[in-house]
Parts: sequence; C-alpha cells; structure tokens
Amino acid sequence: MGSKEVVIIGGGIAGINVAITLADAGFAVHVIERETQLGGHAVNFACKATEKCNKCLVCLADEDTLKAYQHPKIKVWMGSKVVSFSGKPGDFELRISHTTGKESSFEELTLKAGAIVIATGYTFFNAEEKKEYGYGKYKNVITAIDLERAFRVDGKIRRLTDGAIPKKIAFFQCVGSRDESIGRGYCSKVCCPYALRLSKLIKSEIPDSNITIFYMDIQPTGKDFSGLRKSCEEMGIKFARNLPSKVYGYSDSGVLHVKCLDNETGEVVQREFDLVVLSVGMSPRDDAKFLADLFGIDQDEYGFYKGRDYFSNLSNVPGVFLAGTCQGPKDIGESMVHGKAAVAEVTKMFASFS
Ligand SMILES: Cc1cc2nc3c(=O)[nH]c(=O)nc-3n(C[C@H](O)[C@H](O)[C@H](O)COP(=O)(O)OP(=O)(O)OC[C@H]3O[C@@H](n4cnc5c(N)ncnc54)[C@H](O)[C@@H]3O)c2cc1C
Ligand code: SF4
Ligand code: SF4
Repeated sequence: MGSKEVVIIGGGIAGINVAITLADAGFAVHVIERETQLGGHAVNFACKATEKCNKCLVCLADEDTLKAYQHPKIKVWMGSKVVSFSGKPGDFELRISHTTGKESSFEELTLKAGAIVIATGYTFFNAEEKKEYGYGKYKNVITAIDLERAFRVDGKIRRLTDGAIPKKIAFFQCVGSRDESIGRGYCSKVCCPYALRLSKLIKSEIPDSNITIFYMDIQPTGKDFSGLRKSCEEMGIKFARNLPSKVYGYSDSGVLHVKCLDNETGEVVQREFDLVVLSVGMSPRDDAKFLADLFGIDQDEYGFYKGRDYFSNLSNVPGVFLAGTCQGPKDIGESMVHGKAAVAEVTKMFASFS
C-alpha cells in the first residue's frame, strides 16, 4: 500500500477545491504555490452585484481561499516550485524549491506523495499582441482584467487619461480567442458572461452611460445566461454583431475612434467612444511546457494539458491528475467542479491500492 498524501501544484480556485475536499476527507495535502497568495486570478476580480447578485461566483472563490489558509490538514508551500519528480503511483517523490522568506533565499526539500494534481491555471491573452486595438498605446483602451481590478480596488471605473467618468463605452469580444491566425482557435467560454456582468456593473454605477458590446457570437455559457443577456438589454446595453477592425486616437486623448460596421447599412463607419474594454481570453501558461516535460504529460494543440477527453482529470501519466483551467477554459464554478472530480479520481486510485 502506497502513500495517501497528495501534492497539488497551483493554489488557484481549482487547486484549492482539490485541497479542501481531500483535507475534509482526512487526507494530508500539500499545495505548492509559486506566488505569495492563494486563490489565483479569481481573488483579484470584483463582485458584480448590481441591485442583486449577478452570480459571478467571485465571492465563493474568496471564501474557499480563506478556508484553505485555515485548514489544519492543508500545508501551503508559498513561493515554491517543483524542480524534479520521480516514482510511481502511491510512491512519488518531488523536490521543491521553496522561499525561506529571508532576503529572497531559497531552500530545497523533498515531498513524498501517493498522487499529484496539477492545477496551474491559465494566463490571460496579452492584448498588446492585437496591435490594431492600441492597448498599451491609448490609455483609455483597457482590458477586462484592468476593469475587474479597478472595480475590486476602487469600486468604480474612470478614464485613465483624465479621471473623468466614461460615458461612451465599448466592449470588444473574442480578443485573443477564436482566432486561428494567432494560434487560438478555441472559445475561452468566460468572456461573454463576464463582459455582460461587467457592463451591467458599469451601467448601474453610471446610469447615463452608453454601452455597446461588439461580438461575433455570444457564447451562452451558464444556466442563467439567457436571463443575463435579457437583463442587459433591459438596462439599455446595446449589442452589435461585428468586431471592430481598428481603434484610432492619441495616447492622452479622451476620444477614441472605432472603425466598425454599421449593422443597418452594412457600411464601414467610425464611431466615437471614450473607453474601450478588450474582453481578453484565456491562454495556457507561458511555462506550461516546463511542467509537461517534467511530468511527461501531453499538451493539446493549443498548449493546455490534455485530459483523456474534453473534461477529464486523467492525464496520460498514471497518478498525475489535472484540475481546472490548466486543462482548458473554465469559469470559477466549472473549475471548482473539476477540482472535486479530480478528488474522485484520486480516491478511486487510492482505493485500488488496498
Ligand atoms: C478577465 C477575466 C474575468 C473573469 N471573470 C470571471 C467571473 O466573473 N466569474 C467566473 O466564474 N470566472 C471568471 N473568469 C475565469 C476565472 O478566472 C477562472 O475560471 C479561474 O480563475 C480558474 O482557476 P484555476 O485555479 O484553474 O486557475 P488560476 O486562477 O490561474 O490559478 C492557478 C494557480 O496556480 C499557480 N501556478 C501556476 N503555475 C505554477 C507552478 N508552475 N508552480 C506553482 N504554482 C503555479 C498560480 O500562481 C495560481 O495561483 C474570468 C477570467 C478572465 C480572463
Ligand atoms: S456571486 Fe458575484 S455578484 Fe453575487 S455576491 Fe458573489 S461576488 Fe457578488
Ligand atoms: S466566450 Fe464569447 S468573447 Fe469569449 S471567446 Fe467565446 S464567444 Fe468570444
């Protein structure tokens, strides 16, 4: 019979759900997190409640993160990364490099584990790659990540050029997704729902704002999606089915010119906005290949870790499981469910040892 300790690599919402579920069931768990906080991306996002909850699940991510910090059976190794790996299911050995907290010094130590769960998450698309939209060049072109942080930290959004309240706001969907020309042919699944929720949040903060969501296809993810779109339309948020080809402006100018189609006449027009939000998609982590090579796990054509099927937690290496968005785009709810499904696979494997 092998070890029943579990090492989880990545302390985002998926890894945390693996850790809490296993620890609640009595297993000893180690979480290797390379940053200095748990929770991954989700704990930097904003509550999107307007007059009522808009079901973005960010508060659940906050709650679970706190629970993981406090759980007596979860040992968190912050500022840590895996440097080597060997063994077989029930008897793995990992060397980790771990910050001592003293003047950026590191020590190496060995952890033993019966199973490993990789939950290293995603990175968001670097909007500067879409040069035609001018992110990094025009201050009032921001990403949804910037918007999430502004609402989380300041509880409001203002133009970066002059601190004024933005009145004409555009969201561009599918930025860095569904675009084979940049090697990202997949739908990121989360950017339609988050853009709709964020646009409602802006509209409730700035009732006289004029918001247009430019899209190719709205991805109806989540069971409440049709209600979400309807509530946007009722608030006066407009949907334009075409993606702008270019943004023009001056770095510090409050006015941005957006080249797009007029859906009624079919003509190319330029419309003025004072804030453009780019709905960036999800990409595999830049260093995903490092862990793929270290553990011998396969990646799919885009670089996400390959499960045995669409939502599978099973990698091609026995005893090494996948959880959350490292395996492909998912929202917070799906990442939590995927984490719990990974636990079912781990316990099934442990049961087979006895
Ligand atoms: C702009 C934007 C807004 C969004 N808004 C919402 C929303 O409102 N609601 C919603 O449901 N979803 C939203 N999402 C999706 C949400 O961010 C994800 O579903 C969720 O964060 C996925 O969690 P995760 O644990 O899989 O990954 P992550 O959040 O990426 O966490 C992975 C963790 O692993 C760590 N890590 C990575 N590599 C290593 C390594 N080699 N060693 C050790 N640690 C490592 C990271 O530091 C991180 O802590 C949004 C996404 C975007 C892009
Ligand atoms: S689910 Fe989202 S909108 Fe609702 S209370 Fe939680 S954080 Fe706020
Ligand atoms: S979720 Fe919406 S914005 Fe995101 S890639 Fe899919 S269709 Fe495009």
